[in-house]
Amino acid sequence: MLVDLHTHSKYSFDAQDEILDLTLSAIKKGFSYIAITDHKDYFWNKEPIALDIENVQNDIDKIRKEFSDKITVLKGIEIGEIYADKNALELTKNYNFDIVIGSLHSMPNDIDFYDMDYTKLDSDKLLKEYLLEVKNMCEYGGFDVLAHIDYPLRKMEKANIKPSFENYMEFITPVLKTIIDREIALEINAAGLFSFLNNVGPESFVLEEYKRLGGKMISIGSDAHYAKDIGRGIKECINHAINNGFEYVTIFENRKPNQIYIGKEKI
Ligand SMILES: [Zn+2]
Ligand SMILES: [Zn+2]
Repeated sequence: MLVDLHTHSKYSFDAQDEILDLTLSAIKKGFSYIAITDHKDYFWNKEPIALDIENVQNDIDKIRKEFSDKITVLKGIEIGEIYADKNALELTKNYNFDIVIGSLHSMPNDIDFYDMDYTKLDSDKLLKEYLLEVKNMCEYGGFDVLAHIDYPLRKMEKANIKPSFENYMEFITPVLKTIIDREIALEINAAGLFSFLNNVGPESFVLEEYKRLGGKMISIGSDAHYAKDIGRGIKECINHAINNGFEYVTIFENRKPNQIYIGKEKI
């Protein structure tokens, strides 16, 4: 069973492709589920980025009907910093989402981790502060899946260190406990495989700890920003899940989790 639960269309500020083309790409590659999760980032000190949710959902309604015998297209959204602005939670209630992904793309009143110059800052201090903020965001809740918990690692190449969560488990365990408690799924995100990190994330010892703590809900996403990249790295994500003892992926429909069997054998 192939699923891609984290994708971006032209409605995201950083992507261009039609939802139709994302869907056709997923069908061509044999996927059973795709979630369209365009960006809406909130901030502490300014207006959120714009997202035309009405048209995203209109497009999905049409495509969902047309291809219902081939694929299930889920209405999603990736909300950055949901806890920064009370309007974010309102938004999740005012629209019929299947799946709401929660991300931390920036620290309070700072720039996106993607745009930081890691040669000029204390990466160790930043990672600790980041993980404390992720925990705050998860305690606030309001979303179904915690996206790319290792987001800053993707860009830390410049700091001339091998970025890893290896020495940060004392900060990660509380995050994992919080998402288990809040019934938020942990995402395995493929994007790192195509960066210098060269692996899907998070690292195995994070998944092991999640399992040890009783975590059962795993989401899987390519984080594709182009139709051609839909499904990219998903097999590696599934194998990563299976290697770490997970046999199910969690699919949210109407914000309700279903456990879908992905198997015991690597694919
Ligand atoms: Zn993201
Ligand atoms: Zn994304």
